[in-house]
Amino acid sequence: MKIWILRDYSRCVGCRICEIECSRRHEAIIWPSASRIRIHESVFGFPIPYLCVQCDDYPCIPSCPTSALSVGETGAVVVDEERCVLCGSCIEACPGRVPRIVEGLKAVVICDLCGGSPACVEVCELMGFNALRVVRKPEGEVVKNYLNNPLRASEEVARKLGVALR
Ligand code: SF4
Ligand code: SF4
Ligand code: SF4
Repeated sequence: MKIWILRDYSRCVGCRICEIECSRRHEAIIWPSASRIRIHESVFGFPIPYLCVQCDDYPCIPSCPTSALSVGETGAVVVDEERCVLCGSCIEACPGRVPRIVEGLKAVVICDLCGGSPACVEVCELMGFNALRVVRKPEGEVVKNYLNNPLRASEEVARKLGVALR
């Protein structure tokens, strides 16, 4: 089944424990800058969890010159680390520039949904924040709304709640 991580910006407190857990799951160390989920907070107090949305058309996949990207059973983009040459084409092709090159890693990082039990969701639930939730993948373009520039998204949420921005 294709799953998806629903992000509720109003519940995110910006603790960044999801980044820690993601790096622990994938790299077996605490290394938030290698996390597949990133928290952006251009307006203090309005953090935005940001990660791959599993676009219906997956524009990153055909952009890869070495066929390093594919779609897994969960709907996640799977990176073949042996094939990735860190050319950055997938970053350019992604409407939200989600794939990241992390110094020290030999392939781009993209959320792989942890095979169906995302570490970020588990820890966010465990902490009682419930800003992230696993749901069935929504249909249509709605998912791309979450690819808005996360820094701007932080400002939009702040504005909606009446915070005056300079
Ligand atoms: S663990 Fe949850 S509340 Fe904390 S930063 Fe991540 S998404 Fe936000
Ligand atoms: S950075 Fe890696 S995964 Fe992305 S397009 Fe280049 S080879 Fe493919
Ligand atoms: S959000 Fe970016 S990385 Fe994820 S499927 Fe869409 S194009 Fe690919």
